[in-house]
Amino acid sequence: MKSASGKIVFPLLAAIILLAFAAPAKDKLRVVTSLPDLMSIAELVGGEKVDVFAIATGFQNPHFVDPKPSYILKLSKADLFATVGLDLEAGWVPPLLNSARNAKILKGGAGYVDASTNVPLLQVPSSVNRGEGDIHIYGNPHYWLDPANGKIIARNIYDALVRLSPEDQTYFAAKLKKFDDQIDAKLKDWTAKMQPFKAKKIMAYHNEWPYFEQRFGLQIVDFLEPKPGIPPTPSQLAKVITEMKRDGIKIIITSPYFTAESAALVARNAGGKVVTLATSVGADPSIKTYFDLFDYNVAKMMEGLK
Ligand SMILES: [Zn+2]
Repeated sequence: MKSASGKIVFPLLAAIILLAFAAPAKDKLRVVTSLPDLMSIAELVGGEKVDVFAIATGFQNPHFVDPKPSYILKLSKADLFATVGLDLEAGWVPPLLNSARNAKILKGGAGYVDASTNVPLLQVPSSVNRGEGDIHIYGNPHYWLDPANGKIIARNIYDALVRLSPEDQTYFAAKLKKFDDQIDAKLKDWTAKMQPFKAKKIMAYHNEWPYFEQRFGLQIVDFLEPKPGIPPTPSQLAKVITEMKRDGIKIIITSPYFTAESAALVARNAGGKVVTLATSVGADPSIKTYFDLFDYNVAKMMEGLK
């Protein structure tokens, strides 16, 4: 550079380039979760400091997900991994974590979140027994279906975010508070709308609603599955039909990933109605956040009453 102006331009450019490298934009924390519900909560608490990815989709049965190689790659680069825990993902999370070889997100690592920590669990059996194919051996794992438990999940994720990025603690704390406040406000609304279901007897396909049941005061009498994870048998369906007629039960709740035939057959024979609820964010295109999940289910339940 010969010209005088050139001599000025060059140092300026150099300074700009140097500045850019001296203070690089901080990388976002890479968060991977087993279920989209945990992803939504992580996104709400982590805000713009996180990049989130969920392995399962909202319309898959969370007990049975295909562990694809692309998930291993995601996990190998993750800073944080959140799992529902208990034995919900027993068939697919452990093999994925083993293959990802990322010590940070293994149990005991700074980035590992067992979202069930501090959740008051329901249906914890006195002894662990996989007999007859039971897949709820450590207690019922579908706890995210009580929105109040969402606050505990959020806190667990928050703790890990602060461990990984302590300088952002104030930011995450503000987001966590906003999440908690929103749950508290929404809970009032959902509880008011679910009032007609207080002590109302209903049937369910799979035993995945005890937390929802407890929160909103309904009463699930029996299940189409004879045991969690065991598909409905003719004798179980006959039993459910008898119980529905006996107790005047009119509603059977099911989930998008169960075949419709068994529930339809029971509804036909017992004079009831099938209500398909969402068990996860993304189960319906309208369910984009953890809050939407309950908006959707409460609306569906109210529709079922008509
Ligand atoms: Zn289950």
